[in-house]
Amino acid sequence: MKVSVIGASGKVGSSAAFCLAEEYSLRELVLVSREESLDKIKGEAMDMYDALAAKDVHVDIKSTSNLEDLTGSNIIVLTSGIARKEGMSRMDLAIPNAKIVAKYAKAVAKYAPDSILLVVSNPVDVMTHVALKASGMDKNRVIGLGNHLDSLRLKTFIARHFNINVSEVRSRVIGEHGANMVLLLSSTSIGGILLKYFSNYHDFDMGNIIEKVKSAGEEVIIRKGATEFGPAYAISNIVTTILNDQKRILTVSAYLDGEIEGVKGVCLGVPAKVGTEGIEEIIPIKMSDYEIKAFLKAADVVKSLTDNVFKATDI
Ligand code: NAP
Repeated sequence: MKVSVIGASGKVGSSAAFCLAEEYSLRELVLVSREESLDKIKGEAMDMYDALAAKDVHVDIKSTSNLEDLTGSNIIVLTSGIARKEGMSRMDLAIPNAKIVAKYAKAVAKYAPDSILLVVSNPVDVMTHVALKASGMDKNRVIGLGNHLDSLRLKTFIARHFNINVSEVRSRVIGEHGANMVLLLSSTSIGGILLKYFSNYHDFDMGNIIEKVKSAGEEVIIRKGATEFGPAYAISNIVTTILNDQKRILTVSAYLDGEIEGVKGVCLGVPAKVGTEGIEEIIPIKMSDYEIKAFLKAADVVKSLTDNVFKATDI
């Protein structure tokens, strides 16, 4: 199996690449960077080889700025993008990142049209749509990471609140990877038992947990400058699910065509069966009235931002 990571000199790109290399399932890992970062990714590859030798893992790692080297990739992880600076609106970030994402998405379509493209660059729901349009690839092959990471964060908060092993928690966050994310508490369970049936459920400060999940990424950025391990392992979950055709239900950003609450023409985080073909099925879930309202609001916000990006660029 061959996986390529674009933007590999960045925090998320380099951490994800290392995490994937450790997974034992790759034949070849390609680190892709702009020319100016080529030396840095060569250094990353050397450092990774040392660590992999310690674990007796054999992977061929190639560092390159030549997009032709994407050829033959099963999965391409796209992490390139400028970081949000103080005073920048979401739109200020979305336009430059859309141009970067569109450029790479076209290269993916040219050199690896049968691959699956996993978009990570923010704002990720908009960027997934940009990648889909610019690449012209099938909608099941262009996937965004966002709410899967939010779901992992929710899982941690619930496990800690109920003092239960994190592996027992099944939780899901859908909608926008951002302020309009929707925590599906109505279907969250611990050990297969819905949260509301736990005797200490009423001590659970739902408003506080929602705020904590929403601000989790920003909190990490304020404290250590960037999020790395969380996105890297979330990326690895999705990639290994695809490579091993696991058909897990993960929450990924997907192009909707009416499958959930009739929402169409926008990429949003939804539960989907993920396997070797990418998004194999969007799961048409039922939600509480409150969750439906929040999901429809997320759809409106992301659609309007996406439309504005398409109007402001020639993508
Ligand atoms: P970072 O350390 O600043 O790395 C971003 C990389 O993007 C750079 O190393 C560079 O890679 C590339 N890049 C920067 N400016 C560019 C330009 N003008 N043209 C082309 N490439 C450019 O940022 P990060 O922390 O890794 O985050 C990467 C992206 O992932 C951001 O958009 C961030 O918001 C997003 N993110 C998403 C999630 C999620 O759940 N979806 C989670 C965390 C972060 P090369 O020099 O190697 O080309």
